[in-house]
Amino acid sequence: MKQGWQQELALWWPGEIRWDVPMAAYSTLRAGGTATALIQVDRSAALPGLIRWLEQHRVAWRVIGRGSNILVRQQGFAGVVLRLGMEFGCIGIESIVGGGTTLHVGAACALGRLVGWTVRRGLAGLEFVIGIPGSVGGAVRMNAGAWGGALGDCLVGVSLCDRQGELCELSRADFTPAYRGMQGPGIDDGVIVGARFVLGQERPEVLQARCREYLQRRRAHQPRGMASAGSFFKNPAGDSAGRLIEAAGLKGLRRGDAMISQRHANFLVNTGTASAADIVALMAVVQERVQDAFGVHLEPEVHLL
Ligand SMILES: Cc1cc2nc3c(=O)[nH]c(=O)nc-3n(C[C@H](O)[C@H](O)[C@H](O)COP(=O)(O)OP(=O)(O)OC[C@H]3O[C@@H](n4cnc5c(N)ncnc54)[C@H](O)[C@@H]3O)c2cc1C
Repeated sequence: MKQGWQQELALWWPGEIRWDVPMAAYSTLRAGGTATALIQVDRSAALPGLIRWLEQHRVAWRVIGRGSNILVRQQGFAGVVLRLGMEFGCIGIESIVGGGTTLHVGAACALGRLVGWTVRRGLAGLEFVIGIPGSVGGAVRMNAGAWGGALGDCLVGVSLCDRQGELCELSRADFTPAYRGMQGPGIDDGVIVGARFVLGQERPEVLQARCREYLQRRRAHQPRGMASAGSFFKNPAGDSAGRLIEAAGLKGLRRGDAMISQRHANFLVNTGTASAADIVALMAVVQERVQDAFGVHLEPEVHLL
């Protein structure tokens, strides 16, 4: 029987709570320790109260998106993992001024769905996200980017629920896009519930062709059919993590079923049943060898929970 906060939460929260959840199922690395609880929040009105409850009861919590940039450590996450559901998945046009269309998009919307939606309507600016398997919330938090573009380029507003359970709107002056991060009040530790993007106009055929080209480039350079979190390490200033890892002779290096991809040295792949411990051990060896060889510290891009 559950005790303490778990019992209280089970009595208080009207929806489903999953207990002792192996987080491998929620990470594209297909590995990860166990979370004490996982709650999918489908109704936007329920989120602020839940955050307040967790904070008041001093229960650790973390929101995740589509799990394409996280790894829950082997020892697990002692707290509640939140996922945003149904009511956080909408896409809508808010205004059209001159050539600029402002969209409001829910944080749970998949990037793939969003780019399909915009391309069909001839709205230009988000094509670079094609092939990034994240959600809008996770992508805003990470300032996801590719091929010279990043989400921050067309992001003009962020709606979030802060740790006090207050809903707030950040405008463009309130946040600063950074390399794989977004600086602004509440972005690192609150829940992003939606985002506003300003997009230009272009013929759908042109946008489709651009998307096809980006997908071809991905297929040519990235490992296919293997579990990963995309680029595992951030690129150090003026260099590329993949180049350094390859130059250190680490392609193909393994710890259990975790391996440095032969195809792209900054992809750490799960070739079978790698555990979070295998992945973290491999990460540490790579950091140590690159540090020894080049005096460069590689910082993980993947968030370890
Ligand atoms: C095959 C592959 C290719 C990839 N290619 C790219 C690429 O080209 N460019 C790139 O930038 N990334 C890439 N990634 C990494 C990843 O897809 C992006 O970082 C993506 O934006 C993460 O979104 P997510 O929803 O999966 O977030 P998650 O992995 O679930 O979470 C990432 C972080 O964001 C936080 N977070 C998630 N949702 C919210 C929310 N609603 N509010 C507040 N915080 C939140 C989490 O707590 C965590 O700290 C790739 C990954 C894979 C597997």
